[in-house]
Amino acid sequence: MEKKKLCNIIKDLLPSYIENLTNEETNSFIESHIADCSECKELLENMQKEIEVNSPKKEEKNFKYIKRYSQKLKIFRNILLIIALVFTLIIARRFIIINDLSNKAMIAESKTNYYIKLEFYLNRKFMIYEKYNKDEISLAIKKIYYIDNPNNVEEYINYISDKENLNLVKNMQNKNLSTFDKDIDLDVTNYTAIFHTLPEKLYCALTTNIQNVTLSGKKCYLLKINNTERFIDAETGLIIKYIDNDKNKVTDYHYEFDTVTDEDVELPDTTGFVPID
Ligand SMILES: [Zn+2]
Repeated sequence: MEKKKLCNIIKDLLPSYIENLTNEETNSFIESHIADCSECKELLENMQKEIEVNSPKKEEKNFKYIKRYSQKLKIFRNILLIIALVFTLIIARRFIIINDLSNKAMIAESKTNYYIKLEFYLNRKFMIYEKYNKDEISLAIKKIYYIDNPNNVEEYINYISDKENLNLVKNMQNKNLSTFDKDIDLDVTNYTAIFHTLPEKLYCALTTNIQNVTLSGKKCYLLKINNTERFIDAETGLIIKYIDNDKNKVTDYHYEFDTVTDEDVELPDTTGFVPID
């Protein structure tokens, strides 16, 4: 074979030879040629040098790529951690507020001397509920004012003591005295107890947004639950305004503690009332 032809074959084989892809027979063929041919020997040496220079660069490139990729993963992981932390802080803040309000409300609910007043407007009626409670005696008064008939005012009085249970109904036509149990449901616990157990508090903290607001000069928390808005006095833990957006009903609450006297819970005057049963 002509030397030039042989050299060309060797040239073609060298890249594979360098990468150890050639078999032993080919290797010895190449090596024996290179021992005699300075031209091919030089070529091989140059190719080997080039690889030595290039390959670390390639690895470096790969390394850089992996590094960049893992940095991206790290950033993503950190973003997730920050989100989780912010979420935890929000829930923790809510839970602390709810727990504090619940503890304050429980003090109010344990009181046996209290006065509550509720006012609301609904279906062209204005209603006022009042309850005086002193230990075992309670006097509840419900008054209904009709917007379309200002002369008609209905009044319900419920008096309960250890000796008496009295119900009075007064309107434009009648003044009735009845003994049937027409309890006006006005218990302080009905208006404050929205989250007293741990699951209730946790559920509320997870689901309910709590805003800091001011209502008639009082620092309050606004809790939006379903379609209602509850304004809770930060100082007492008691609801002072309740907005029911479904019923379009706004209720205002007023509370007093340890101010009810014996006079406030005196047996109502039944003169002129007709007993019915
Ligand atoms: Zn050669």
